[in-house]
Amino acid sequence: MTETTDIAVATAANGAASANSAALSVRNLTKQYANAGRRVLDDVSFDVPKGRVLVVVGPSGSGKSTLLRTIAGLEPIQGGEIALEGKVIETGKPGTEKAGRSARSSELRTHIGMVFQSYELFPNKTVLGNIMMAPLLVQKRDKAEVEREALELLGKVGLADRKDSWPHELSGGQRQRIAICRALILHPEVLLLDEITAALDPEMVREVLDVVIGLARAGQTMIIVTHEMRFARAVADEIILLEDGHIVEHSNDPERFFTEPETDRARRFLRTFE
Ligand code: ADP
Ligand code: MG
Repeated sequence: MTETTDIAVATAANGAASANSAALSVRNLTKQYANAGRRVLDDVSFDVPKGRVLVVVGPSGSGKSTLLRTIAGLEPIQGGEIALEGKVIETGKPGTEKAGRSARSSELRTHIGMVFQSYELFPNKTVLGNIMMAPLLVQKRDKAEVEREALELLGKVGLADRKDSWPHELSGGQRQRIAICRALILHPEVLLLDEITAALDPEMVREVLDVVIGLARAGQTMIIVTHEMRFARAVADEIILLEDGHIVEHSNDPERFFTEPETDRARRFLRTFE
C-alpha cells in the first residue's frame, strides 16, 4: 500500500520536473580564487536535462574540477547562478574568494553528489558503515531501511560480499565503486564524477566505468569529467570542451563532436588522444 503511494508520488514528481526542462542550470558562472588575478571560470552557462549525461573534457588546469566543486557547493562563486530543478541554490557574490565553502545548507548539499579522483573512505568504518553514515547522520533516516538500501546498492556494483570489509582490504576499483554507492544512497538529483578512474590501475578502470554506464542507462542525471575519450563517447548525451575557464565547444551530438568537431581547438584537443 505504502509502496504504491510512493511510486505514484515519485512518478508525479518526475513528470513535473521533466516538464520544467533542466535538472541543473548553470548561468554565467564566474569563479576566482583568492590571490589569483584571473578568473578560473568565466561566464560559464549550460543546462543538464533530467536523466541526461553531460561530459566535460578539457586540458589540465582548464577549470573542470573547479566547475564540479562549485556545483557541489564546495567552493563559493563570485558571479552567476546555479539552479537545481528550477530553484536557485547558489548565487555569485563578489568578495567570497577566500571562503572555504559556499553558504549552501547541508540539506541542499545532499541533492548533488560527488565522487572524486581519489576519495579515501573512512578507514575506521567497514564498507557498510561508510555507505550508511551520511543517510543516518545527515538525513536521519531509519537504520534498517538504510541498511537494506546499502546492501541493494552493493549488489548493483558487484560488491555484496564485501559489506563487512575494511577499506584497506579493497582494491582502488572496489573503493571507487563503494564511493559511488556512498553518493547514490543520498538519492542525488545530480551526480558529479571527477576523473574517478584517473588514479586506478588500468585493469580496474573497466569495472568502475561499467557501473557508471549502468547508472546512465538507469536515468541518473550526471556531469562526468574524464580523460577516457572512448568512455566519454559511449556515455555522453552532451559534451563540453572547457579551456581556460571558457566553454569553447558545447555539442549535443557527441558522435559528431568526436568525428567532426566545429572548432579548431576541439580538433587539436582530440588529436592529443590519438
Ligand atoms: P582541471 O580540473 O581542469 O585540471 P582545476 O579546476 O583543478 O582544473 O584548476 C583550474 C585552475 O584553477 C588552475 O589554474 C589551478 O591552478 C587553479 N586552482 C585550482 N584550485 C585552486 C585553489 N584552491 N586555489 C587557487 N587556485 C586554484
Ligand atoms: Mg581536475
